[in-house]
Amino acid sequence: MAEFDETFDWIVVGSGAGSMASALLMKQAGKTCLILEKSSWVGGTTCKSGGVMWIPNNRYMDPGEDSLEKAVEYLDAVVPDGPDSPGTSPQRRRTYAEQAPRMLDFIVSQGVEMERGSRFWPDYYDELPGGVKTSRTVTALPFDKAELGPWADKLRQGFFELPIRLDDGMKIPFMKHSWDIKKMFAKVAFKTVVGKLTGKKWVTAGAALQGRMLKAVLDRKAAEIRVDSPVSEILVENGKALGVITVADGKPRRIGARLGVLVNAGGFSQNQAMRDQHLPGTRVEWSNGIESNNGDMHRELERVGGTLAQMDEMVGFQMTMAPGWDTDYVKPGTQSTTAKPHAIQVDQSGQRYMNEGGSYELFCETMLKHDREVPSVPSWAIMDQQYMDKYPLAGKMGVKRNLSKWIEAGWVKTGDSIEGLAAQIDVPPAALRATVDRWNGFCAKGIDEDFHRGERAYDDFLGDPFPQGTGHSLGPIDKAPYYAIAIYPGDVGTFGGVVCDVDSRVLGPGGAPIEGLYACGITTASPMGRVYPGAGASVGPSMTFGWIAAKHAAGLGNQV
Ligand SMILES: Cc1cc2nc3c(=O)[nH]c(=O)nc-3n(C[C@H](O)[C@H](O)[C@H](O)COP(=O)(O)OP(=O)(O)OC[C@H]3O[C@@H](n4cnc5c(N)ncnc54)[C@H](O)[C@@H]3O)c2cc1C
Repeated sequence: MAEFDETFDWIVVGSGAGSMASALLMKQAGKTCLILEKSSWVGGTTCKSGGVMWIPNNRYMDPGEDSLEKAVEYLDAVVPDGPDSPGTSPQRRRTYAEQAPRMLDFIVSQGVEMERGSRFWPDYYDELPGGVKTSRTVTALPFDKAELGPWADKLRQGFFELPIRLDDGMKIPFMKHSWDIKKMFAKVAFKTVVGKLTGKKWVTAGAALQGRMLKAVLDRKAAEIRVDSPVSEILVENGKALGVITVADGKPRRIGARLGVLVNAGGFSQNQAMRDQHLPGTRVEWSNGIESNNGDMHRELERVGGTLAQMDEMVGFQMTMAPGWDTDYVKPGTQSTTAKPHAIQVDQSGQRYMNEGGSYELFCETMLKHDREVPSVPSWAIMDQQYMDKYPLAGKMGVKRNLSKWIEAGWVKTGDSIEGLAAQIDVPPAALRATVDRWNGFCAKGIDEDFHRGERAYDDFLGDPFPQGTGHSLGPIDKAPYYAIAIYPGDVGTFGGVVCDVDSRVLGPGGAPIEGLYACGITTASPMGRVYPGAGASVGPSMTFGWIAAKHAAGLGNQV
């Protein structure tokens, strides 16, 4: 029997989305828990994220708006099963649809204040059976991290640190179109100033979610949390996980786990060698993943008998190299740029090749696939002056003020004619002219006959919420000058890893679970397979399957 320096009931490797949900559950079951975090901050990529969770049939939806059966119908319609997708199965998807709303009820019962993410944030394939055109999203309320006391500075930085709900934050770029948004922004500015004067440290989105989870864990003494504590080994003997090896004061420390080990250590977005092997053509520099997600636990799980799958999947998030992109905390994303009226995207031969709306995961996957036939990394977003007059560019406001600076820096290319622009970006002028003419014809008819952009509620969500006669997503490119920016297949994390069962147990060779070894989040082959069904399809499953793991290990089954 292995000797240990200390022992807990439950050890969690990494402080991702599932970690603290599992700790709260263990506390309720009267068990002890240790969370070991490699970096100096708690919260993982989840903290840096939007913190949106895709939770079907959740407590904030209207009666009759959703149901377990409708959610399962949608997941089954959107996620194909197959030998290349062992992370998903009808059982894992049903488990998610059933348990996610229960997990949400549980964390709310622990004092974690949540709300509906938005009333309009459609599923990414809302046209499929069971799809919802309203929203299945859930987010945390903004949080004053000063409430964490000495732990405030140990919470990883959020991508957006203001006293504002995520849904409202996403409206700010449209401020000039609406007095209501201006008023809302004035209130937020006032709250920010008052907060500064009164010592508040407001965070929102993922940092609010993980901040609130951390507060609940600290208040209940649900776990001991150690930062700067990388786990290097999972100790497995006779097919059973017994504990881990971490580092304390520069020395290896063996820690035993009576009930089990949950690995919630994120993905491998920061490991270029693993990218080259599994996600060829993608780059660490384009990724928004956090520095500590380098796949060390993927390799360790494989070493102890786990099976890796769906490793060629990432949650793509298209980006552009706007000035400062290489040092920005969050890379400039272009998800809603090319879905707006007066904008399209073309490959290097000047052809459109996809619906520029839709999910970021599908967008980048399509870009990478297309690149194997026609060079399309980077692709070019093509816009006209109407676009520049109305919308932010890659999320950046102040377009009028900054445009000439951006052109000078070489980020934005421009031409007085489509042909002139084509010459700037090395795309055949006649081909680009034909593509733009065809697009303008579709806009006149109100139908994108090639890719059906604008026919899904989600395309509208990304389009213009204040259309001026052109529809939400379609708008001609016909007012000079014309502009282009290069678009790359970035990501917000990888999406493949170890294969698990409905109880989050890691499956060994032959498909049998390794006793006492659990995993959740993007350390696993996603239960969503190779598809991203809606906003929050990463954080929601991580938290839910972390919570399920703890229920299973504590022997609570369906009692919670
Ligand atoms: C800007 C941005 C916005 C996003 N928005 C959303 C969103 O709104 N909704 C959504 O669902 N997804 C979103 N994503 C994606 C999502 O954030 C991640 O996929 C998800 O948070 C991953 O969660 P996780 O629990 O698997 O791991 P993580 O949250 O990444 O946590 C893993 C933790 O494990 C630690 N760790 C790694 N190795 C070790 C080790 N050996 N020992 C100890 N600790 C270790 C890491 O340091 C890290 O803290 C977004 C991502 C970004 C970057």
